[in-house]
Amino acid sequence: MRSKDTPAEARQRFRCPACVQMMTYGRGQCENCGEVTPIYNWRGFWLGLWICLGLSAVGALAILILG
Ligand SMILES: [Zn+2]
Repeated sequence: MRSKDTPAEARQRFRCPACVQMMTYGRGQCENCGEVTPIYNWRGFWLGLWICLGLSAVGALAILILG
């Protein structure tokens, strides 16, 4: 377990496009208005993005090395 305390603002990265309240990061719905949050507020999106970037980097490297 990490003992680092996480302040509330650290978990709220983006604003809701519907009501302009800060959304809790990782939530699928805005707590204030119930609007479905944009995909960039979902953890899986960033995880998938980094995996895609990593895979394309590895792929590009493989093409460079293997010709
Ligand atoms: Zn909202």
